[in-house]
Amino acid sequence: MTEGTRDEGARFDAIIVGAGFAGLYMSQRLREAGKTCRVYETGADVGGTWYWNRYPGARCDAESLAYSFSFSPELEREWEWSERYATQPEILRYLGHVADRFDLRRDIRFERRVETAHYDEAAREWTVTTDGGDSARASVVVMATGCLSVPLVPQIAGLGDFSRPHYYTGAWPHEGVDFSGQRVGVIGTGSSAIQSIPIIAEQADQLTVFQRTPNFSVPAHNHPLDPKWVAAFKENYREHRRLHRLGLASGFGDLDIEPKEFESLLTSALEPDEADFEKTCEQFWQMGGAMFLRVAEDMMMNEEANARVADFVHRKIREVVKDPETAEVLCPRSYPLGTKRLCVDIDYYATYNRDNVRLVDLQKSPIERISETGVQLGGAAGDEIELDALVLATGFDAMTGALAKIDIRGVGGGTLCDKWAAGPRAYLGFMVSDFPNLFTITGPGSPSVLSNMVISIEQHVDLVMDCLAEMESRGAKVVAADGEAEEGWVAHVNEVASATLMEKAGSWYLGANVPGKPRVFMPYAAGVGVYREVCEGVVADGWRGFSFA
Ligand code: FAD
Ligand code: NAP
Repeated sequence: MTEGTRDEGARFDAIIVGAGFAGLYMSQRLREAGKTCRVYETGADVGGTWYWNRYPGARCDAESLAYSFSFSPELEREWEWSERYATQPEILRYLGHVADRFDLRRDIRFERRVETAHYDEAAREWTVTTDGGDSARASVVVMATGCLSVPLVPQIAGLGDFSRPHYYTGAWPHEGVDFSGQRVGVIGTGSSAIQSIPIIAEQADQLTVFQRTPNFSVPAHNHPLDPKWVAAFKENYREHRRLHRLGLASGFGDLDIEPKEFESLLTSALEPDEADFEKTCEQFWQMGGAMFLRVAEDMMMNEEANARVADFVHRKIREVVKDPETAEVLCPRSYPLGTKRLCVDIDYYATYNRDNVRLVDLQKSPIERISETGVQLGGAAGDEIELDALVLATGFDAMTGALAKIDIRGVGGGTLCDKWAAGPRAYLGFMVSDFPNLFTITGPGSPSVLSNMVISIEQHVDLVMDCLAEMESRGAKVVAADGEAEEGWVAHVNEVASATLMEKAGSWYLGANVPGKPRVFMPYAAGVGVYREVCEGVVADGWRGFSFA
């Protein structure tokens, strides 16, 4: 970790905000191109998501060999992943290794939160300030601030009254938490909760899960990686990466997928008879992981088709969960499968068969308030559940949250918050008109959170570098997205989302989890392959929709 001295008016070619996957790769590319850069990071070390989310059970849901950088064949060769889905400590070690291997830490200032980024039109330069008193200038600013980096404080009455320890999954204590002998409550049943609940249940004396909306979850079928299999995969790494970038399996990995198995992908979930349908679903279920969403091509377009696959998952839940009433409460019915992020779990549903685990259905018994000692329920149950510790797995202000916390001012002093008051607007999710030379890695309007994010991050970082090279070749100092191109792209993103079932869930993709946030479907839902083609077309067309000056 490098605390370093304060920057006082220092000038860099680029300033990067954030030192997760995106910030690290961006700084590596700039370094390689001989540019100077400064990275500011709120955390005390690199890692981003994997620095903050240290809750028990945290691991990736894209396969390890796919959820890793592809820019360096040497790095690919030398790093050994141990499991199909790497744990948080392993991913954090990997990112630490990347920082050391490419000597990236010397450009990073840790424990610095960027507070302002203001554009000076005359100087064609950004000035960035931090809460540590830094002030630095650069012609280019790259926001690598993360899509899921601002934990959400839920609006629950009395939350501040709880006098015993409480923990946010997204800001977990570094020293870990021992729940042995304790009565623990978990609020939330999204991916973070679904990963942590089985492990907390093993440790705690009693665990109460407070569920407002059930989530669909598929088994991870995690296992240690076979070194022989890894060697063979690495032999063919370039081809795997190529397929991932094209969007096969959204780049979530292809551990157990042989090309022949793709043949069983159904064109429509409504076509096969019951036996064939069951067989195909079972085959995908047994593969494990997010691949399950590929079981039928029309699943994300056709409600009936989706419902048929959802029924299969409901049957799976009932098979595992012994108490029929609990099983019913765990079956999601209020939105189509896949329209909220599909969870990938290890023994999640089976955890409800344990004697020390209780599921509270907040639809029937909402939380009335948090008291000093526990959770007071209203409705049918009406009782108070006393707790020694409370875990808040309540999600994030996704995609725009981290950007909204920075006072970003572009041309004419206009703020990004004002510009995005009715929802985010960006060209290709990559640049915002009126904010020249400012890039948003995996920003709203790009596939981003709907993809294996490392793939999307690498693509955007490479696009930034191509854009800077284009500026140089044109002798330009400024690049900006055109307002008209931006409008067209935003309309296209909405049109694509509307053609799917994605808007039928009150998901964080739509900002529905944050009170008052405009309901706009933020990621681009056409897939990473299509998006890559669009970007390549834009570049081939002389950077259509961008102005260089
Ligand atoms: P981040 O890793 O979020 O890093 C952004 C960094 O910016 C943070 O460290 C933050 O402190 C810093 N920052 C933000 N604002 C400021 C500021 N104003 N000043 C200074 N620093 C700032 N994606 C997948 O594809 N597969 C997965 O399996 C997967 N699992 C996930 C599990 C969890 C628990 C979570 C929360 C997310 C997961 N994601 C997953 C999404 C994950 O966020 C991305 O995969 C990826 O790690 C994002 O990298 P990033 O560098 O873009 O952002
Ligand atoms: P999330 O999916 O947004 O889940 C938050 C949960 O908290 C939901 O169940 C939500 O219920 C509940 N909640 C929020 N406010 C509440 C309130 N006031 N009262 C009761 N319940 C409340 O957040 P997350 O689990 O942290 O996951 C966010 C994203 O991070 C994921 O979708 C995924 O992209 C990523 N992630 C990935 C992994 C992985 O597997 N690798 C793990 C963790 C996170 P409602 O649904 O009713 O709002």
